[in-house]
Amino acid sequence: MLREYLFKLLCQEVQYLCGVGIHMTRFFKAVLPVAISAMLFISACDKSLNFIEKSTKGEASEPSQTQSQKASESKPEATQAENEVKKQGSAAHIDVSQVKPNEAGSIMVVMFHNFIDEYKSGDKEYTTTFDDFRKLLPKLYEKGYRLINVNDYLSNNINVPAGCIPMMFTFDDGTAGQFNLVEENGRLVANKQSAVGIMEEFNKAHPDFGLKGTFYVNLGLKTFEGKGTISERLKYLVDKGFEIGNHTYSHISLPKAKSAQEIQREVGKNQKAMLELIPDYTMTSLALPFGQASKELQEYVHKGEFEGIKYDNMAIMLVGANPAASPVSKSFNPLKTARVRASGIKPVDCDLAWWVEKLSRSEQYVSDGNPDTVTVPKSNEATVDQGKLKGKRLVTY
Ligand SMILES: [Zn+2]
Repeated sequence: MLREYLFKLLCQEVQYLCGVGIHMTRFFKAVLPVAISAMLFISACDKSLNFIEKSTKGEASEPSQTQSQKASESKPEATQAENEVKKQGSAAHIDVSQVKPNEAGSIMVVMFHNFIDEYKSGDKEYTTTFDDFRKLLPKLYEKGYRLINVNDYLSNNINVPAGCIPMMFTFDDGTAGQFNLVEENGRLVANKQSAVGIMEEFNKAHPDFGLKGTFYVNLGLKTFEGKGTISERLKYLVDKGFEIGNHTYSHISLPKAKSAQEIQREVGKNQKAMLELIPDYTMTSLALPFGQASKELQEYVHKGEFEGIKYDNMAIMLVGANPAASPVSKSFNPLKTARVRASGIKPVDCDLAWWVEKLSRSEQYVSDGNPDTVTVPKSNEATVDQGKLKGKRLVTY
């Protein structure tokens, strides 16, 4: 409780350029042969147990406390491979005392903006270099993070291996550094010097990391400038498994919006443009540009209609700097989901690097590896909202 309070104190004043939104597509299924999966599991998830395992419930949870070193080094590989096989089964088949699943724990929704070659003076802290992003992915992977999409989160369809921690990537503003197409041997492909290109490269060697993320775009502005039409760019992302979310048509300042009509035009027109570019594609979440609208107008950010096109954003991320709640948590409220901002030119409190360092494993969502069950320590059972299980079985230990 004390930690939560301190985090809130530290984070509540952090300002964002963009708010939030959400939602998304399909989920990742491991298709690798068991042997390869086991190797990945050993090298990543279990390793992460050693690396980031910190205090468990009941112990003093000092953020900077060093983690236990002893847990798994001596574990025979055969046993770990067995565990990997068993994770395909029910949560009852994993060694909960080792994996310590906590599917009521928090999940980080990371907010990225610009990507550039190198920092120059004046670059905002919302900017990431390609090299830093290249280094970030293996670091997250080693710590056991695996990507899911916002729709997986909203539907409580989180499918990452046992012991791993789900994470969401979100990208605001549709910048070319996030993604742009280039021509290669007559085909349009993602520029390798873009966030998507870097993720694609990383996933060739680490397919279980997940090629996922939500791009919050303003279709009235330049979007992923580069080769190809806007439609081709968006389709490329969707075909790869990424999601597209709403960020208003022209990136208006929602706090300054004066009327319901203005908001509905901005949100609805963006959805309408999306349908023209990819028929049937519904954006189900919205990232707030410059923050939330006034109290009286907030409902129109959530739901509304413009020129016959209705929209219903299931998730709106608040301007905020904290990890988000598990979808089964009593505090889960997708219309007010916080995001953690990506680390930028200088380290700041509550950026991604800060949270990765400070958040203990026991505070985060640690998967039981079984999408049909929700496994939590008994000590966390009271934080689970039974009405949010969405047909999954609650398992406690
Ligand atoms: Zn924005």
